[in-house]
Amino acid sequence: MAEQNFPTGDLMKGKRGLIMGVANKNSIAWAIARQLAAQGAELAFTYQGDALLRRVGPLAESIGSDILVECDVTNDDTMDNTFATLKEKWGKIDFLVHAIAFAGKDQLAGSFVDNTTREGFKSALDISAFSFVDSARRASEIMNDGGAMVTLTYLGSERVVPNYNVMGVAKAALEACTRYIAADLGPRGIRVNAISAGPIKTLAAAGIGSGRHMFKFNKAASAMQDNTDPMGVAGAALYLLSDLGLSCTGETHHVDGGFHAIGMPQETPLKEALAD
Ligand code: NAD
Repeated sequence: MAEQNFPTGDLMKGKRGLIMGVANKNSIAWAIARQLAAQGAELAFTYQGDALLRRVGPLAESIGSDILVECDVTNDDTMDNTFATLKEKWGKIDFLVHAIAFAGKDQLAGSFVDNTTREGFKSALDISAFSFVDSARRASEIMNDGGAMVTLTYLGSERVVPNYNVMGVAKAALEACTRYIAADLGPRGIRVNAISAGPIKTLAAAGIGSGRHMFKFNKAASAMQDNTDPMGVAGAALYLLSDLGLSCTGETHHVDGGFHAIGMPQETPLKEALAD
């Protein structure tokens, strides 16, 4: 992500929340964290294993966060510890950002019907969809009424995107989970939404076959004829997690330069992109 200044202000002043899913400075969760911090939020972070601590630690420190907990969403002990730590340090939280997904590389290439295995399917759905249900339940136990949650999804849930395969199925489940969680927590004023981001160059995106084609095609075929800016995703998260987003819940909000709205792309940019 190019060095950018996130708009500052007080929209998140007095609010505390957990960010799950920062791997490095290119992570979408990091753009969201920076935007929330620029608006006065106090943040805690999880990281997945020691290898990532070297990257996430300095990032968290750079915005004054001192709650950093190791958490693998497939490990109940680390999930227990994450939310117990928040309860002990803060008592209550106001928001949750879930930006976690995984599928084995062998599941993200070629034929969906031929290459999707039982284990690959279970693991993708567990880490990429169930983990939001689990995190949301745990977060809701310590969340103030009127809080908010956001997860990250992708258009591959609604339409076929080559090589996205089982991750598309997991994202469809994640979006359905978002609606069900929103209904359960709505009476407490807790809003739950998903942001459907266009392709952004991150570690997770690098695992998907034909990544280069995906970025070129997305740029040429989107309404804005550009790739998605992580700042736009961070801005949408700010809206959904702050009081600006009042009454908005159960929604999947696209931030993808209008790619999702196009039925047939313009001929010239597409021809140029595909010839390149
Ligand atoms: P990223 O690689 O920076 O973040 C993915 C995160 O998932 C990492 O921090 C990783 O540690 C975490 N993770 C994976 N398995 C985990 C586990 N078992 N326990 C705990 N954490 C685990 O990539 P990103 O692109 O910023 O991804 C964040 C979210 O955004 C994902 O849900 C992804 O599907 C979604 N998304 C990404 C794009 C894109 O093009 N990059 C587009 C739309 C949606």
